[in-house]
Amino acid sequence: MQNLTVLGTGVLGSQIIFQSAYAGKTVVAYDINDDILAKLPARWEQLKPAYLRDVPGATSEKLDAAVARIRPSSDLADAVRDADLIIEAVPERLDIKQQTWEQVSKVAPAKTIFATNSSTLLPSDIAPFTDRPEKFLAMHFANQIWMFNVCEIMEHPGTDSVAFDAAVGFATEIGMEPVRIHKEQPGYVLNSLLVPFLDAAAQLLVRGVSSVEDIDKTWRISTGAPKGPFEIYDIVGMNTPYNLSKDSADPEKRKFAELIKTEYIDKGYLGIATGRGFYDYSK
Ligand code: NAD
Repeated sequence: MQNLTVLGTGVLGSQIIFQSAYAGKTVVAYDINDDILAKLPARWEQLKPAYLRDVPGATSEKLDAAVARIRPSSDLADAVRDADLIIEAVPERLDIKQQTWEQVSKVAPAKTIFATNSSTLLPSDIAPFTDRPEKFLAMHFANQIWMFNVCEIMEHPGTDSVAFDAAVGFATEIGMEPVRIHKEQPGYVLNSLLVPFLDAAAQLLVRGVSSVEDIDKTWRISTGAPKGPFEIYDIVGMNTPYNLSKDSADPEKRKFAELIKTEYIDKGYLGIATGRGFYDYSK
């Protein structure tokens, strides 16, 4: 599969576009209007130094060649007309995703495989809104795709094995480690492991069992893991755990949300991105 179209050019969509183009694919970057697409050149200039720093063998020439393989378009029919694969990275709202795939189905060629990059929605909730549920699946990439190169590929009960294998092949060709998920699982493999782990750390903290530093130290030293749970919270950023916990039925989760808000969010300590979260990164 040589021709990729990515729907949505935000945080993750732009990374999927750039990584695929860097790996030699021909990519159409689709978004809802030309003003949004006009920001892409600046985005590539942001990503280039990251590749030069983090990707062995990256050179300015290779990065310029990647940019030359990207064509922006705000016309959906034009954007998908030659696509072998469409990866959708539009906002995480079921109604937007369903509408998007309904419209794509009207204009995409019969050969095209459809994939959603949704973090939390199940492919079976979206597949009925396409004209080809057998060619629909999820391809879930991680933020900072060039470094954290896992692609979780998840089928729904109606996905056929040819489409699944093609998605695994594409992910491999663009430098990803494919993770094959043959049964729908909210949160895929990664978040099915990570979320309970982070919840357990929060529970230890709000119960007063131990401190942020000692909980992290226990995990790091005992398992050899490079980071403890609160260091991971700082990477994720405070807003996500706050939003996930603030209205929880579990009083301990609400207490954690309250703690994050008063001690961190209200003071502007949102995690590594702001230089301070549970830890101070300014020094
Ligand atoms: P984002 O808000 O940064 O980008 C969304 C983009 O979609 C924007 O450019 C917006 O203009 C565009 N858009 C809006 N409506 C559209 C439509 N109808 N058709 C086409 N484009 C449309 O969001 P994001 O963080 O890149 O997340 C996108 C998807 O990727 C979500 O499903 C999210 O769950 C998933 N994801 C995000 C991350 C992450 O760390 N941000 C990680 C893995 C997966």
